[in-house]
Amino acid sequence: MRTAIVVGAGIGGAAAALGLERSGWQVTVLERAPELGEVGAGISVWPSAVAALAELGVTEVQQAVALVGPAGMRRPDGGWVVEATALGMEAPVMIHRARLHALITERFGPEVAIRTGVTVTGVSQNPAGAEVVAGDEVFRADLVVAADGLRSVVRQTLHPQYAGPRYSGYTAYRGIADVELTDGGGETWGRGRRFGFARLIDGRFYWYATANRPAAQVVADPHADVLEAFGSWHEPIPALLAGTPPESVLQNDIYDLTLPLVPFVSGRVALLGDAAHAMTPNLGRGACTALEDAATLARHLKSPDWAAALAAYDAERRPAATKLVRASRGIGWVGQLDHQVACAVRDGMLAVGGKLAGVTARRRRVGQSRT
Ligand SMILES: Cc1cc2nc3c(=O)[nH]c(=O)nc-3n(C[C@H](O)[C@H](O)[C@H](O)COP(=O)(O)OP(=O)(O)OC[C@H]3O[C@@H](n4cnc5c(N)ncnc54)[C@H](O)[C@@H]3O)c2cc1C
Repeated sequence: MRTAIVVGAGIGGAAAALGLERSGWQVTVLERAPELGEVGAGISVWPSAVAALAELGVTEVQQAVALVGPAGMRRPDGGWVVEATALGMEAPVMIHRARLHALITERFGPEVAIRTGVTVTGVSQNPAGAEVVAGDEVFRADLVVAADGLRSVVRQTLHPQYAGPRYSGYTAYRGIADVELTDGGGETWGRGRRFGFARLIDGRFYWYATANRPAAQVVADPHADVLEAFGSWHEPIPALLAGTPPESVLQNDIYDLTLPLVPFVSGRVALLGDAAHAMTPNLGRGACTALEDAATLARHLKSPDWAAALAAYDAERRPAATKLVRASRGIGWVGQLDHQVACAVRDGMLAVGGKLAGVTARRRRVGQSRT
């Protein structure tokens, strides 16, 4: 049986391990954390990632749900910039990260072996196979999938000259609130700050916020920080913050990877997920892209010609991921503008764009009702 090592058991690594097993590979997963799991936050799963999950055999994440209640883009005083409910837009499935992760790992069969508490320090390869080093231990396999995240050691080993992570200029806060709301969700853009929220499929609300800030500043109390920055914004933002256990609020500086991205494949080693294409979260697509990587890689690696399969994986996934890294970075740049005039122009243009999209959506609905 062909053997693979997956480095990292986040959403990307877990999905890759599942996909490889289903394609006939024996898989060893090496994860540095002491146990498997994910952070306490929500995640958007867009239709293409729902399809990738289904391809991997995870069918519990159902197709996108309709927005419930008013939703769209607002100003900090609550005034609408764009009301999305009028647009009939498709919404992603919003799910707790730990739930999504568990849905994937629960599917592992007997050909997936998991080793937690193992920190990979290097990788090498020759025509006969690949070796992964973790302290005193050496693991050998036919193939290595590096899903070890933004600061991937495997990527650094393969591409020591690559500049790697790039700080976006803003930090992000996340939380989950157990509150009753009639509001559907959406984003509120202010000057150098944004707040967004959405209903999870379990009924709770996931919220996230961003603020311009130099990298690596110590935030002693993220909940107090976010309350100070957003507590006076429109409802239901104060209600969401009040309904969130203060100690559960997460804060992370936002990075993406320098463009152009490095090749996703070097010999017998494939990069996947954030290790290959970490992007800012403005499109809510980073993990979705990792799931699509995993489904694509597993599909190609059903073939006995692994070299051709890996080349096809790189050719398919790198251009798609590059577009998302770039688009996501652009949205973040516009969203984090903090000059008063620039923000007024931005909001005006978005409002006009939203009205045009509303007219198009209404025409489409009328057209559909006539056919
Ligand atoms: C604020 C925020 C909001 C986001 N929202 C969304 C969203 O709504 N939708 C979406 O699709 N994406 C979202 N993303 C992006 C998403 O979180 C990531 O793209 C995704 O989690 C990447 O998964 P991954 O498995 O590739 O990497 P990671 O989740 O980083 O997992 C890497 C794993 O590798 C392990 N590891 C690292 N180094 C080693 C080593 N040397 N040896 C062994 N193990 C190692 C780590 O412990 C970890 O378990 C968001 C990101 C942020 C920051």
